[in-house]
Amino acid sequence: ASLIAQREKIFRSNYHQLPPIPHSNLASFVLENATGSFASKTAFVDGSTGTSYSYSQMTELVHRTVAGFVSLGLKPKDVVFLLSPNNPDFAIVYLAVVSLGAIVAPSNPLNTEADIAKQLVQVNAKFVVTVPELLSKFGQNINTLPTILIGDKTTTWELKTTSSISFLSEILTKEVYVEAPQPECHPDDTCTLLFSSGTTGLSKAVQITHRNFMSAVTAYNTLEPGASTTEDDVCLAIVPLYHVYGLGIVFLATLQRGASVVTMARYSLPAMLQYVERFKITVATLVPPIYVVLVKSAELVAKYDLSSLRILATGAAPLREDTMKAIQTMFPHCVIRQGYGMTESPLISFSVIENERQQWGSVGPIVPGTEARISHIETTASLPAMATGEVWIRGPQVMKGYLNDPEQTAAAVDSEGWLHTGDLGYMDNNGYLYIVDRLKEMIKYKAHQVAPGELEAVLLKHPRILDAAVIPFPDDEAGELPMAFVVKREGSDLNESEVMSFVGKLVAPYKKVRKVEFINAIPKSATGKILRKELIVKIRQQLTS
Ligand code: AMP
Repeated sequence: ASLIAQREKIFRSNYHQLPPIPHSNLASFVLENATGSFASKTAFVDGSTGTSYSYSQMTELVHRTVAGFVSLGLKPKDVVFLLSPNNPDFAIVYLAVVSLGAIVAPSNPLNTEADIAKQLVQVNAKFVVTVPELLSKFGQNINTLPTILIGDKTTTWELKTTSSISFLSEILTKEVYVEAPQPECHPDDTCTLLFSSGTTGLSKAVQITHRNFMSAVTAYNTLEPGASTTEDDVCLAIVPLYHVYGLGIVFLATLQRGASVVTMARYSLPAMLQYVERFKITVATLVPPIYVVLVKSAELVAKYDLSSLRILATGAAPLREDTMKAIQTMFPHCVIRQGYGMTESPLISFSVIENERQQWGSVGPIVPGTEARISHIETTASLPAMATGEVWIRGPQVMKGYLNDPEQTAAAVDSEGWLHTGDLGYMDNNGYLYIVDRLKEMIKYKAHQVAPGELEAVLLKHPRILDAAVIPFPDDEAGELPMAFVVKREGSDLNESEVMSFVGKLVAPYKKVRKVEFINAIPKSATGKILRKELIVKIRQQLTS
């Protein structure tokens, strides 16, 4: 696959054209062959129980869930807040809500009660779907928001203390099974709200449309015969389904293809290796921190039969070239593939196998249907191949915008439809994209997003902290660690561990500040904006000197 640099220096994918998408609803698109040619194939296996569902069983469950939601009063465009670890019920609820023309807002189970309370208001949630273990995260909201529990009912009956709680397992066995209604739905309607810190600041809700996901899935599934998922593959869903990578690629694309998804609720390396052996996983779609640990665990890896593995994929954060090479040495029979995408644009590029030559370090050519432009940092002029600038992307997968936030939307997607990714990169002469750095301020700790602005606000709650700024600090295993620069109030004593434990008590574990430096003043622009980049440069200079 190579790209052509046009006169205006727009890079276009020349894999092939993006085939037309004849559907208006994502769920009907994904389930197109579920009662036909895929009917008897395995759609899902719940890795923790071993329970499996065929495509026809899954479709039946989706239809019953739709009927259940209708009886509870769910209407098109209503928002269902979904908080759950990976399991088949997550997928069934997702498809049911989307098929009704309603919207799913999936959130990270590690979020705190305060985070969740804010998000419920932010998206104007009408229903909550969660598992019993996470119910406490909703606090008093449980009394006002109709809540549906997924998971095993037998262990949870005592929870039914308020009338607003019902059980998916009950809904599914009701006799009121009715034919699923087919509401009017436009492909540019929102089907999913994903939480993201975006390029700056605090958490925003990204509006993903039916068309956005259908385009990303179609692009992924038509890349190259044999090099992406096929009907015969068994894919491991270990990356969280509330994140665009797990939801778009691991779940939706795999089902549309007719392959099987094995869900894993909690990650540990030995458990993951066991799953690969037990379920004969062929496609493992993982994130960089897992690969970093994997290459250091040769002895453990040798204990398992991992010969079923065919594709090892990575994405969501940078993977160092030396790690990638070490993985290839460890798994010589596997193809290693790298994808690049973001919440605001589910799939941007994906690496291909070309003459068995791996472009190590590249995130691959841009996917079908997508255009890229490398934009000069100061002038925004479009740059030719081999020149580094900000990556801009245009295509049918680019989000509709941030919910109720026209200002931030305009800052992210310009009037010509280019999404300014906040990533620094270049295109080589063969059309392979390389991401070299990040301009935006979001921190990626183990592929989780951490918004610096949010941690700064927490730090400022400390009575002995006068001012604070948070930046990413490079780390081999985690990718980046949240690091705080702190200005103490005059005359007060405060040490690093006090700062870290103060923040640790108030935020989700993955957002913890893991490094602190005291400083006399936080660098600010004339308008008072924190100049995080100056601090980032300072740290990089310290590390290289
Ligand atoms: P998210 O919205 O959480 O998916 O984060 C998107 C950001 O993750 C991108 O803008 C990049 O900064 C980073 N990212 C995603 N995939 C890759 C990759 N393959 N290599 C380097 N950075 C990546």
